[in-house]
Amino acid sequence: MERGELLYSGKAKSIYRTSDKRQLLMEFRDDTSAFDGRKTEALSRKGKVNNYFNAFIMESLEDAGINTHFDSLVGDTQSLVKNLDMIPVECVVRNITTGSICRRLGVEENIELETPTFEFFLKNDELHDPMINEYHIRSFGWAEDEEIKKMTAYTLKTNAILSPLFRKAGIILVDFKLEFGRFNGDIVLGDEFTPDGCRLWDSETREKLDKDRFRQNLGDVVESYEIAASRLGVSIPD
Ligand code: ADP
Ligand code: UDP
Repeated sequence: MERGELLYSGKAKSIYRTSDKRQLLMEFRDDTSAFDGRKTEALSRKGKVNNYFNAFIMESLEDAGINTHFDSLVGDTQSLVKNLDMIPVECVVRNITTGSICRRLGVEENIELETPTFEFFLKNDELHDPMINEYHIRSFGWAEDEEIKKMTAYTLKTNAILSPLFRKAGIILVDFKLEFGRFNGDIVLGDEFTPDGCRLWDSETREKLDKDRFRQNLGDVVESYEIAASRLGVSIPD
């Protein structure tokens, strides 16, 4: 697949056009960022690990009936994806309290929620991704009612599919963020599912295997992503 013009370079990925206008090339870079881009570092091998990790999860979700943008791996750090009209909101599901929900609601860390909770955030670094609700999304025309319902349902279904998958690998899926877009009149899961956008804890020791290792300067960031990948059965070439 011919790599075309660079369309967008984000904090961790670059998006290129291809000869087919319905497809894009998504490149996972080693760049890592946290706190809305205030802490950044290039972590060797992270792009490669995330590319293979993402492919595995997207294929698992597709097999379980979620429409995703993933088409195929086209190199160690690149995948071919559908060209989506992205909806500028982040969909977050939590099974255990940690991170922003504790700061926002003053609740304790590590509460196992009775049922998973769901939150929308506006994708806007300058405003630090403020929390929004479905009325904001409708009032400002970011998405329509039907699209909001689908994003919510698909995100909760993703949690129902992935929680047991991780559990079998000895990992707790604590929380995660998804982004969706439009394609041929449908809502499709876009962006990525990697340890950069979720929290994964070892089921026994509760050791963190995700981007909190970077946020909290715990070290062995990519090594921990690789432990999670290997336990899931994701094979990553050397
Ligand atoms: P950010 O934009 O937050 O810095 P990234 O570095 O991950 O994040 O950049 C990837 C960008 O590509 C994001 O803005 C994301 O919304 C967008 N994107 C992800 N998947 C697709 C897709 N299938 N089609 C079009 N854009 C996409
Ligand atoms: N998340 C993400 N991108 C964001 C914000 C959050 O991938 O811009 C993920 C984050 O990795 C975690 C979940 O969404 O798995 C919930 O994050 P939270 O709201 O607790 O934010 P944080 O603690 O990172 O500020």
